[in-house]
Amino acid sequence: MEPLDWIDEELGRRQQAGLLRTLPPPLSTAGALVEVAGKSIINFASNDYLGLAADARLSQAAMDSFSEQGVGRGASPLVSGRSVVHEALEKRLAEFFATESALLFPTSFAANAGIIPALVDEGDAIYGDAKNHASIIDGCRLSRAERHIYPHVDVDALAALLAKGKKYRRRLIVTDTLFSMDGDLAPLPQIAELAHKHDAMLMVDEAHAVGVFGANGRGVVEHFSETHPELLARVHVRVGSFGKALGAAGGFVCGSAALVQWLANVARTYVFSTAHPAAVSAAALLALDLVDREPARRQGLLYRAAQLRKRLNAAGWDTGRSDSQIIPVILGSAERTMQISTQLRERGIWAPGIRPPSVPAGQSLLRLGFTAGHTEEMVERLIQGLGDIGMESGSVVPDMPK
Ligand SMILES: *Cc1c(COP(=O)(O)O)cnc(C)c1O
Repeated sequence: MEPLDWIDEELGRRQQAGLLRTLPPPLSTAGALVEVAGKSIINFASNDYLGLAADARLSQAAMDSFSEQGVGRGASPLVSGRSVVHEALEKRLAEFFATESALLFPTSFAANAGIIPALVDEGDAIYGDAKNHASIIDGCRLSRAERHIYPHVDVDALAALLAKGKKYRRRLIVTDTLFSMDGDLAPLPQIAELAHKHDAMLMVDEAHAVGVFGANGRGVVEHFSETHPELLARVHVRVGSFGKALGAAGGFVCGSAALVQWLANVARTYVFSTAHPAAVSAAALLALDLVDREPARRQGLLYRAAQLRKRLNAAGWDTGRSDSQIIPVILGSAERTMQISTQLRERGIWAPGIRPPSVPAGQSLLRLGFTAGHTEEMVERLIQGLGDIGMESGSVVPDMPK
């Protein structure tokens, strides 16, 4: 026996259970139509919701910055890594989200992993949705606070947990605003009401919603604030990503000046990690401008996503609770999911199968990331492909009842 032999055994176990993951072939291009191993394929496997990832203007902004500021920053932002471009982006973020201040993180995974332990510790409590993103879950694990998990979007269960007697020093409620697999929204007005009533801190993760939701693309907080204006003041910590709709990379947090100063002092993923190349911030700065200057990118998106869901449902496919550009096609069995994903792939359509442990056992799904770059023709190809596969397998009705 060698010390690492257990890995082969574990991998074998996963393979037998049909859960072994293999890296897909690398892409030569980005966008709604990508080149993979010399072949063109329609890409429903990305979170490039506004179609900005391959935008030439973003690349140009990055290239200009590269020639001025170079590539490596050489240090953490707290030491000497923070460039004038990083600062400009933080100022622009605060203005964009109408908060006092903002702070950049290497990724939003790092933001969540660093922020949560900076807010709560031993003697404190966290309340989180059962379907929160892995980075939030890890942030909770890294803190020494007591964790209370409520069933997905179940506000009554959250209320009951909050009402329970035990005294904590501080309490934090944390949730995704748009859930990454189900594509549904958190009931933020109700959650914020509870946070307010119980004097709890409220942290939300808008990773999939920034650029897409809200009249001005600020996210789900903006979306709900149209009918619940009190929401803006009741959300204390807003996390987002530049790596999804904004077509760049990196994470950020927006909030009060005190919050940002505190995080810059103690969030370990901020303090102990090298700053991004300034070029990443330059591209992100332009992406925020494009959200303002090109509203058509998001305006058609949710409507077209709703049309796509309707057509999928009419053909017998279950899209679950989706109410967004994230459209799961819920199939149930992991094996069937991977099989359909492969069959679509052979037809030039990339729709990744999502299996445990990313989703609970028996709830495997194809995850469609619908973007502004998808043409009507691409949508037709998808519907046609799914239809053909349904026919071949003798039934268009998936094995999980609606
Ligand atoms: C993707 C995602 C993240 C991680 O974002 P990165 O910037 O890619 O690290 C964090 N939170 C949620 C809810 C996400 O979906």
